[in-house]
Amino acid sequence: MSTEVLPDIALIGLGNMGSPMAARLIGAGYRVTGFDLDPAARDRLTANGGTGVVTAVEAARAASVVILMLPNSTVVEAVVRDLLDAAALAPGSVVVDMSSSDPASTRELAQTLSAADVTLVDAPVSGGVKGAENGKLTIMVGGSPEAFDTVRPVLESLGTPRLGGDVGAGHAIKAINNLLSATHLLATAEAAAAAQRFGLDPAVLIDMVNTSSGRSGSTDNKYPNFILPGTYDSGFALALMLKDMKIATDLAAKVGAPALLGEQAVAMWERAQTELEPGADHTEIARWIDNNVDDPVADDSAADSEASKKALAQRIRDIHGTWDDGWQSILDLRPAFLAAYADLAEVPWKKNHLDDKTKELIYLAVDAAATHLHSPGVRQHIRAALDHGATPDEIMETIELTATLGIHAMNIGVPLLTEVLEEEGLRDTPAELTSYQRSLQEQFTTERGYWHEFWDEILELDPEMFEAYTEFSALPWRTGSLSPKVKELIYIAFDSAATHLYVKGWKLHIRNAIHHGATKEEILEVMEISSALGFQSATTAFPILADELDRRSRRSASSPDAIGGSQS
Ligand code: NAD
Repeated sequence: MSTEVLPDIALIGLGNMGSPMAARLIGAGYRVTGFDLDPAARDRLTANGGTGVVTAVEAARAASVVILMLPNSTVVEAVVRDLLDAAALAPGSVVVDMSSSDPASTRELAQTLSAADVTLVDAPVSGGVKGAENGKLTIMVGGSPEAFDTVRPVLESLGTPRLGGDVGAGHAIKAINNLLSATHLLATAEAAAAAQRFGLDPAVLIDMVNTSSGRSGSTDNKYPNFILPGTYDSGFALALMLKDMKIATDLAAKVGAPALLGEQAVAMWERAQTELEPGADHTEIARWIDNNVDDPVADDSAADSEASKKALAQRIRDIHGTWDDGWQSILDLRPAFLAAYADLAEVPWKKNHLDDKTKELIYLAVDAAATHLHSPGVRQHIRAALDHGATPDEIMETIELTATLGIHAMNIGVPLLTEVLEEEGLRDTPAELTSYQRSLQEQFTTERGYWHEFWDEILELDPEMFEAYTEFSALPWRTGSLSPKVKELIYIAFDSAATHLYVKGWKLHIRNAIHHGATKEEILEVMEISSALGFQSATTAFPILADELDRRSRRSASSPDAIGGSQS
């Protein structure tokens, strides 16, 4: 009998797949600590014999192998960044990304992790929830042969791992597999609809195809188990399938491979997504094809424009996590304007140098700044920040940082005062600082990591105010959990807002952010988010315009005289 000590495992992402995978690992004797944003998923892990904890950092600290089973690369990157920021990954440990992620992002992440002496292995899976439950997943691994050997025993408790190539290979194979699988499913749905309209029983068709050359995973698994019984409950969401398809077609585009059929399949799945309920299972595509089979990609302009409006509304939901009558009025009155805005607002969400949570805190700082105070945006971005995993403390800290903006009255006003005093002959040179003033200067420099000449005159002329402000502004620096870099990005956010544009502070905080490790891409992303503020003209004014137009049309419909009156 082997006496080898099993490594402790952290599993982050305990959804449809992660939860049964954790149960398999526990059954194989591993100690599993897990985290999911959803408290019910954490409780499920604890009930299954693992330990559900309340942060990913806590889970990772308890393990030498950290498995991720998350929705997509954006979430994976954000989680890994949090783990690195908190130094939660021990040197020599391994992160195994079993999510279906984007291979390009995986390769970048592998480099970032290797700088912290952590190895990344990608190991996405095929086999669905059932395969996860019974340990029969196909596991497509990317990484070095040594890294594969390290994690192979863990993966063998979940299914059959096979090494496909260097890091990123597993994710590439998985995405290409799913493009194939989704295309088969579409073709099978069209075939079944044709057979049925010809008077055949689709179950008979599928049964015969399964012993013929047209068979596929769709005919031998998805049709008999989820589509023919009408349950549409495979546990794999349509949105996740579409994500994988797009990873594969993007990969083909990048390497110059043909993907005409793949692009067409993506277009049809995209259309299905806009027409089906959010959260629909991917097997619903068969029902959708059946209901639209007369011509699912018909060039019917009314249907097309209805579908493209739905798709545009979905884009705004994807970017901002919100939709209401205000947005609807812009869509109704000026869809092209809304589409152009979506292109603009999407830039930071495509480049993703900042994680989603930080982006939402930046939007919040812009909208909550005293020079702007856009309450609908404040509510929207607090909600979205919570959805992206921000804690109430992090949101309060963002507000505390933003509430320092009022000091700009002093930053601009005191130099103006000294200028006038000098012009009036009431002041010559700056007075020497007292020891009290010097100690205030030292305290500020230590706590905030910088000194700027615009504090000189405030400290000299009004040390009481300077001291009180130092205390006021230092609170988030003493008690908050946001990194110094993110704090500085928040200052940049409100200094760069079009309703404030405080150039002196803006430049200072760009410099401070760079000193705290921010990249130029991250700083640009903050300003891209600030730029979205201009569209609040539309979100405020379009609903009012729509309302006024509606009132007029109702008035003229109910009173023909009113029309005559207004025309005369
Ligand atoms: P899911 O939506 O059921 O689970 C994802 C889980 O991640 C959710 O419980 C969610 O709360 C959690 N989560 C999201 N953000 C988080 C964060 N920042 N920190 C911690 N937890 C977070 O999805 P799933 O079906 O389990 O799929 C997971 C991955 O596996 C996806 O990449 C998917 O494409 C892939 N996959 C799924 C299947 C399937 O049949 N469901 C099959 C193969 C591969």
